[in-house]
Amino acid sequence: MKVAFFSSKSYDKEYFNLHNQEGKHDLTFFEVSLNPDTIELTNGYEAICVFVNDKVDAQAIERLSENGVKIIALRCAGYNNIDLKAAHEKDIKVVRVPAYSPEAVAEHAVALIMTLNRKIHKAFNRVREGNFSIEKLTGFNLYKKTVGVIGTGKIGIAFCNIMLGFGCKIIAYDPYEADGLKEKGIQYTSLDELLEKSDIISLHCPLTPKTQHLLNNEAFTKMKEGVMIINTSRGALIKTSDAIEALKKRKIGYLGVDVYEEEEKLFFRDLSEYLIQDEILLRLIGFPNVLITAHQGFLTQEALTQISTTTLNNITSFEKGEPLENEVKWENPD
Ligand code: NAD
Repeated sequence: MKVAFFSSKSYDKEYFNLHNQEGKHDLTFFEVSLNPDTIELTNGYEAICVFVNDKVDAQAIERLSENGVKIIALRCAGYNNIDLKAAHEKDIKVVRVPAYSPEAVAEHAVALIMTLNRKIHKAFNRVREGNFSIEKLTGFNLYKKTVGVIGTGKIGIAFCNIMLGFGCKIIAYDPYEADGLKEKGIQYTSLDELLEKSDIISLHCPLTPKTQHLLNNEAFTKMKEGVMIINTSRGALIKTSDAIEALKKRKIGYLGVDVYEEEEKLFFRDLSEYLIQDEILLRLIGFPNVLITAHQGFLTQEALTQISTTTLNNITSFEKGEPLENEVKWENPD
């Protein structure tokens, strides 16, 4: 099939071309994101391949349908950027990569914890400048700390397993309990209890209307003083303006995020030659106890291999009229 990629980067090209060596599909890589100005590029393509910040709303779906697009292949797990109802109405299939190395994202969450806690980002800069002082670099032992995990799906489970290795006590909140975690000593609690008892809170649930701004002023008030919050899931799980207030009051002691509410205007681009206009992000960057990475949790060799092979297989299944194992279907709420 002819497939148009949007928001594509060098690593997308490298891994997709590598796994399309038999030339099953005809791949075109556009660096631009999918938006009203670029949507005409889809003309002549039956398949498009998009990423987390390509906005595929009802208007976009209308245009895609006019242009003959039959399938939207997400090269990611989350699908909150797709209007599934509109796609269903236009009979455009939506497929995704439900699982690609959950360990990649879980390990990145741990990297944020370790860096913030042991202040590796500060130590790195100090030593490079010949400053070998260790003043104000005191961290805390993870051993026996209480870690609250919100969402125990694939990534949440991988994260729990790593944190168990540190000797942490893990409590979890998820409307559906995962098999096998309780046997490892992980306790499910209410969300409120998790917020009240955790020294570290890590978000691993999807962004839905229910989870939008799950961590807001009300939630921060319930937390321990100096809590560490880690978000590798979706930016809008946290109300960033409330997080800034909680950081100013030192309620939040550490904040590590790989995602940001307004990231689609910023992340995955080199904007070092421009002035950043996002005042909220600039405020966040200014805190010494905030660590931001630009949505790189998935970026490991293993994850990129799985993403490209699963996406290409999804497209092949569609082309052959086979059942779509990784289809995301619109669920009629009525
Ligand atoms: P998953 O579907 O396996 O697990 C999600 C879990 O969240 C499920 O167990 C579900 O029951 C639970 N959940 C749903 N609503 C909840 C709520 N209100 N409160 C608590 N738990 C709730 O998904 P996954 O593969 O583990 O991925 C989790 C999220 O990680 C994705 O939704 C995506 O947003 C994010 N992600 C980020 C990156 C990255 O690069 N940073 C990469 C992949 C995925």
